[in-house]
Amino acid sequence: MNCSIISVGTEILFGQIINTNTVYLSQELNQLGMNVYHHFTVGDNKDRLKETLDYALSKSDLIITTGGLGPTQDDLTKETIAQVAGKKLEMHESSYEKIYTYFKKLNRKMNENNIKQAYLPTDSIVLENRCGTAPGFIIEFDEKIVISLPGPPKEMKSMFEFAKDYLKAKSKCTIYSKVLRFFGIGESSLETAIIDLINHQTNPTLATYAKIGEVSLRITAKAENEQKANQMISPVIKEIKNRLEEYIYSYEDEELVQVVAKKLLEKKISVSFAESCTGGLIAAKLTDISGISESLDRSIVTYSNQAKIEELGVNPETLKKYGAVSEETAREMALGLKRVTGSEVCLSVTGIAGPGGGTEEKPVGLVYIGLAYGENIVCNKYNIFGDRNRIRNYTSMLALNMIRKVLEK
Ligand code: ATP
Repeated sequence: MNCSIISVGTEILFGQIINTNTVYLSQELNQLGMNVYHHFTVGDNKDRLKETLDYALSKSDLIITTGGLGPTQDDLTKETIAQVAGKKLEMHESSYEKIYTYFKKLNRKMNENNIKQAYLPTDSIVLENRCGTAPGFIIEFDEKIVISLPGPPKEMKSMFEFAKDYLKAKSKCTIYSKVLRFFGIGESSLETAIIDLINHQTNPTLATYAKIGEVSLRITAKAENEQKANQMISPVIKEIKNRLEEYIYSYEDEELVQVVAKKLLEKKISVSFAESCTGGLIAAKLTDISGISESLDRSIVTYSNQAKIEELGVNPETLKKYGAVSEETAREMALGLKRVTGSEVCLSVTGIAGPGGGTEEKPVGLVYIGLAYGENIVCNKYNIFGDRNRIRNYTSMLALNMIRKVLEK
């Protein structure tokens, strides 16, 4: 099924709000195996909305609108859809009751505009609004489907759950996806490595998505049931694993930090950090995971040379000879951390996050990560591109990935 999303609201056109509804709906529709072909944004203007609806209907089987279902004069979505579909608006009794009860509870008087919300196009399937007053609706006409949802994201999301059941029933088949997560390989390299699979697979389909430092690959199959869809996906995953296993950190769409936390907790391994340029960011990411106190001992933010000497026992001579951002310092930081904490995994990070502070020899983005684990100590050097925010965030992911790798061994 091909679909378009129409966001209604002048405030979106003015840039006063960010169109998060479209992002959410696109992701959800993709997961349902639907092809989202167009996004439209239109102000609170009846003629332009009608024009947009007509155009979208000429291109898509399914249109989802958000916004403009409220009680005010500029909320015109319902009337316009009814007009395009050749339907009248009629009072929907139970929606009226709900709005009536809502106002009674608040001890407020219902006005004409509030009553207007209970009017919906004839023959539509009503979508109850569990978070607000304006009901949404689904209307079918001329082999097309229009689903109209309210603008406030909370109301829209909760109502879309009902619409999802309707869409699943319509599609007569199960859409099932698996998401593999990769680290250490860029989106274009990943695509190149599996381009033959991407081009030749129509069912299942493969699609890549990139985020800071990592790439996801969604494999989606349409089949009679989940088991059959899974059977279609499994050989594709096997082939991808053969080619790219070293980069795959999750077969279950988990975040890198979740995977690392899970492994630390499963193996009952203690971990500590000595963070310079990341200033506690790595530990902060881990503390997002509930229960991590079983493994995480501490993070010492040793930003200055003095702190590296005092807290971790880094030799002042090392700092003088090689500098704070050097392999030697990173190693001494990790070993010092081990002495201080006794944690089984001790990770240190030192680098230049910029924008200032870089030299020809030691440019912005130069980062060393030291890792003491058991009797071993390793230190990796990275040259990371981007601004301060990206360098710090990517460093924290590199650090987590180093821990993941040693825990997998
Ligand atoms: P209401 O009953 O609140 O008027 P409505 O369906 O008429 O609901 P709008 O008036 O169009 O919705 O939007 C209400 C609010 O919802 C907006 O002010 C904005 O905060 C949020 N909103 C609307 N559309 C979007 C969107 N596409 N993405 C994110 N937020 C949105």
